[in-house]
Amino acid sequence: LKIEPYRPQDFIDFTKAANVELYQDALTKVRTELLGKHYPLIINGQERDTAEKLVSTNPCDTSERVGSTARATIQDAEDALNGAWDAFKTWKTWTMDARARVLLKAAAILKRKRLEVCALMTLEVGKNYAEADVEVAEAIDFLEYYAREAMKHEGFGAAETTWYAGEENGLMYLPLGVGVSISPWNFPCAIFAGMLAAPIVVGNCIIVKPAEDSGMIAGFVVDILREAGLPAGVVQFLPGVGEEVGDYLVRHARTRFITFTGSRNVGLHINEVAAKVVPGQRFIKRVIMELGGKDALIVDETADIENAVTAAIQGGFGFNGQKCSAMSRLVVVDSVYDEVVGKFVERVNALKVGTGEENANVTAVVNEESFEKIGKYLEIGKSEGKLLTGGAAPGENAGKKGYYVQPTVFGDVDAGARLAQEEIFGPVVSVLRARDWAHALEIANSTEYGLTGGVCSRDRARLEQARHEFEVGNLYFNRKITGAIVGVQPFGGYNMSGTDSKAGGPEYLGNFMQLKAVTERY
Ligand code: GLU
Repeated sequence: LKIEPYRPQDFIDFTKAANVELYQDALTKVRTELLGKHYPLIINGQERDTAEKLVSTNPCDTSERVGSTARATIQDAEDALNGAWDAFKTWKTWTMDARARVLLKAAAILKRKRLEVCALMTLEVGKNYAEADVEVAEAIDFLEYYAREAMKHEGFGAAETTWYAGEENGLMYLPLGVGVSISPWNFPCAIFAGMLAAPIVVGNCIIVKPAEDSGMIAGFVVDILREAGLPAGVVQFLPGVGEEVGDYLVRHARTRFITFTGSRNVGLHINEVAAKVVPGQRFIKRVIMELGGKDALIVDETADIENAVTAAIQGGFGFNGQKCSAMSRLVVVDSVYDEVVGKFVERVNALKVGTGEENANVTAVVNEESFEKIGKYLEIGKSEGKLLTGGAAPGENAGKKGYYVQPTVFGDVDAGARLAQEEIFGPVVSVLRARDWAHALEIANSTEYGLTGGVCSRDRARLEQARHEFEVGNLYFNRKITGAIVGVQPFGGYNMSGTDSKAGGPEYLGNFMQLKAVTERY
């Protein structure tokens, strides 16, 4: 099997008017063809509808209904699980190469529909053009990368073992069985695709439960996989409510593994439920988690200040701070604090707030629950720090009702304050003042999370120290701390940020396999 080596997708350049025009054409196409579309469940390759529905609204204009999905019941979940185990009997016998081809074909289709998926994301979750584009690029990358990684595991003896006299020895990679993938709305295409593709390419079957806010994009991706030739039952599309079908499946005796990306609280709940053995259960459930972050960027007195401020703007306000990798803490050494913060606030004030469709820098946050939660932190912030800009959640912008929150910066926040410890998941940055470099590193490490982090500095010794002592899974120097690229920056965190499973990394598929050592004595 000869295919070109993996290479990440390039991003589309939206400073070119022609590309902006193409995006707008895609928006028109999606408005004509997909608006109002309903995605039913898909169980054993069959569409199945439900009495109740999950409705997607445009967060930037809540009067607009984008479409809907079915809302799975417990019976649907049960059927999906049983059907997936049936499909597993055959799917596990496919070669890695054969399964990889399904992903490669899906990647090719997704490339052709790239702008269409982007446009749907703009309407369903409010992403602007570049945020949507890098995400679809990442989804394509996941498919391409995991396909190639799976091929490396083809056949008996693919893993390195030592020769032993008189015997033949080897390691086989085996799939786990049937798992559940519970994915988030903030990367509704890329993370959804990645958390689905990795388990199936090594022979598992999976029930995918996308976030309630982004079921249409998930349905779109599942349709692409079906078009690529995915057999019935390998992916069971089960949009529904987490507390209902999600919980049911996590508890279920026949669920072999759970892969989850979302908040710390939900993740810990899943971990606890999954750990409890229920009657009829024959295995210890494996749990793979990507949780929250309270990610810090340190700027010291040797830093290139302009570059640091750009990194802070990109990391803090990309997709409105709705990334677990977002820079929610800016830690600045005292001697440059005023200069850095002054320039940062100036740049924040220049951010354009508006809809995803008009390609604003900061758009509306995803839903009412997020909007309310962020609003509470804006109040908490006013007593914990100095409000430097923003601070309001008007809930409308330029005459459109939507979950709009002003880009907000609080200064002189204490390292132990709630604002500096709890994940807000919105366009809110806390600035913390450090006495010196050592203090800055101490502050950066003072949360229970450990996902992303960054240092802007020209001091080599400090960068080397941070390399070892900054407790995060993804560390970036002299650039933004978001936007990990598949295969280039394997993504995932330590501590309360997750199981360090490293999506888009060379070890990731190992999460979904078990190894068997077989010995024959001659
Ligand atoms: N992988 C994304 C990044 O590097 C973040 C994923 C997330 O927010 O869940 O920015």
